[in-house]
Amino acid sequence: MRKALKSTSRRSKEARSRTTPTLSIENMRIIETVKEMQDIADELRAKGKKIGFVPTMGYLHEGHLALVRKAKELSDVVVVSIFVNPTQFGPTEDLAKYPRDFERDRQLLQQEKTNIIFFPGAKEIYPDGYSTYVQVRELEDHLCGKSRTGHFVGVATVVAKLFNIVKPHFAVFGQKDYQQLRVIERMVKDLNMDLEVVPYPTVREEGGLAMSSRNSYLGAEEREKALRIYATIQKVEELFKAGERGSAVLIEEAKEVLQSSEGVEIEYVTISDAETLVEIDRIQHRAVLAIACRVGKTRLIDNTILTEV
Ligand code: AMP
Repeated sequence: MRKALKSTSRRSKEARSRTTPTLSIENMRIIETVKEMQDIADELRAKGKKIGFVPTMGYLHEGHLALVRKAKELSDVVVVSIFVNPTQFGPTEDLAKYPRDFERDRQLLQQEKTNIIFFPGAKEIYPDGYSTYVQVRELEDHLCGKSRTGHFVGVATVVAKLFNIVKPHFAVFGQKDYQQLRVIERMVKDLNMDLEVVPYPTVREEGGLAMSSRNSYLGAEEREKALRIYATIQKVEELFKAGERGSAVLIEEAKEVLQSSEGVEIEYVTISDAETLVEIDRIQHRAVLAIACRVGKTRLIDNTILTEV
């Protein structure tokens, strides 16, 4: 609650100090309204500037910053959005306690020479009477979609809206959230959205744990247990390299490593076609090993792509 109040006062303080909407890409700008963001995007496009975009829910880590660097490589102006999107959280999920620290995020993005932070409030994105949702069928029926009903509708909806607001040429997404990446790629293709989705490999902590804002929920002991997720990925990659192609064998080995001692509760371990996410019995082309589990109360996901060379 204290954090929410803090972010409200920051919001009004920044709104007060806002100057004219004229663009200066040397100093990082914080934009809070859809209209202002769209005007800036139009101005940039009229000048022939390429816009790179990284949508985030904030509480940034090195994984997010790697995406920002990639966006910088590809474009003239980088926009990072920070928006904890309520429509992608289920009623029993962690929307209220999702970690937030705008000031820290602002500093990190300043260091990366980000040009614009788009930081809207929930009412700005979902005003009263809001009724339009984007559903990417089929892809949402697998992996996390099975337990997180409506999650990918929330993701696709907010990302479609952010694309209409930021008007990017490139949008960088992490492979860490592989199903999300596929949903966005499919949506962009199906709805003829005029931008390129750029995937970025998963950034890991030293021990191999995939970076995630939710890792901040883990205590020291839980963090240790979570390392088993990466050990599992390594084991499966090793077996795959040695020639194993049967999903049942690979999944059984994976579960054995994950459960080698107590503390990791498996939600799913699957091997799916990397494009459709449909589960497969044998790996023939490009597959994804996807893992979702709980360590304590924290739900963690990870994956690796298994490709025939
Ligand atoms: P989030 O703030 O969790 O919504 O994530 C924002 C973006 O950062 C998404 O495209 C994520 O896939 C990406 N991302 C999150 N964690 C990582 C990571 N460890 N490595 C690479 N990308 C990541």
